[in-house]
Amino acid sequence: MHVEVTTVAKVDGVFNVHDTMGQCIQAKKLILATGVKEIFPQIEGFTPLYGKSLFNCVYCDGWELRDQPLVVVSEHAAGFHTAKLLYQWSNDLVLCTNGYSTLTHEQKMQLQSKGVKVMEQPIAAFIGHNGKLQQVRFADRTELARSGGFVTPKFEQSAPFAAQLGCELTATGGIQTDDSGRTTITGVYVAGDAASFSPSQVVFAAADGSRIAMHINRVLTEEEFEQVEN
Ligand SMILES: Cc1cc2nc3c(=O)[nH]c(=O)nc-3n(C[C@H](O)[C@H](O)[C@H](O)COP(=O)(O)OP(=O)(O)OC[C@H]3O[C@@H](n4cnc5c(N)ncnc54)[C@H](O)[C@@H]3O)c2cc1C
Repeated sequence: MHVEVTTVAKVDGVFNVHDTMGQCIQAKKLILATGVKEIFPQIEGFTPLYGKSLFNCVYCDGWELRDQPLVVVSEHAAGFHTAKLLYQWSNDLVLCTNGYSTLTHEQKMQLQSKGVKVMEQPIAAFIGHNGKLQQVRFADRTELARSGGFVTPKFEQSAPFAAQLGCELTATGGIQTDDSGRTTITGVYVAGDAASFSPSQVVFAAADGSRIAMHINRVLTEEEFEQVEN
């Protein structure tokens, strides 16, 4: 059964969590572990290739694409850093900015010195078959043969609950927390990508969940132990 949480509100110190089944669950503490949404450039042909030959994280999928002719597509400054990281696994690299001017002259010189080509014209489409990238087609009708690569997304919170509760965000859009996962709203904690978009790895998210759950259990235990029995 697919049930989604729709709203979360704090009323008299208790969290009311409403879902699409019309239920309201009440809790003393809340962990937001709702992850993030990736916002990719709107390029035709991207979706069937994403997760098969086009990826977003070099540390997750760089090794599998090693020594292949690769493309990095990035409309922002992260593209330069992605290209540098990926260069560890393939020297046959083209960095495309899809019509944006994201690179300084110095960065272009560095890339050129490593044999990394920069193409700044807008991309019309990714051409591929069975999930495998074959060509990047540009708006000027030129084509570039590539077998895979990385597209850098922007990230957004995938759920509106931090905003509903008034939690502060970081400059990059993650939910602000301290080392124990506590947000700026008392009783609200965050685990996983929702707190930090990078580095985003399953082990970090799982470790956060475990660490923060233990912390909350300790807080609840202390709060309940301190209550005087009549
Ligand atoms: C293509 C791709 C490849 C990756 N490869 C790797 C890899 O090789 N190794 C690695 O370690 N990491 C990889 N990652 C990153 C990894 O997937 C994330 O870091 C990790 O999943 C983050 O876990 P999370 O629990 O914070 O968020 P998520 O896994 O995004 O989980 C959030 C959950 O919250 C749920 N949710 C959101 N809103 C609501 C709502 N309103 N109501 C109810 N539920 C809701 C979602 O349905 C989801 O189940 C990859 C990511 C992508 C996109």
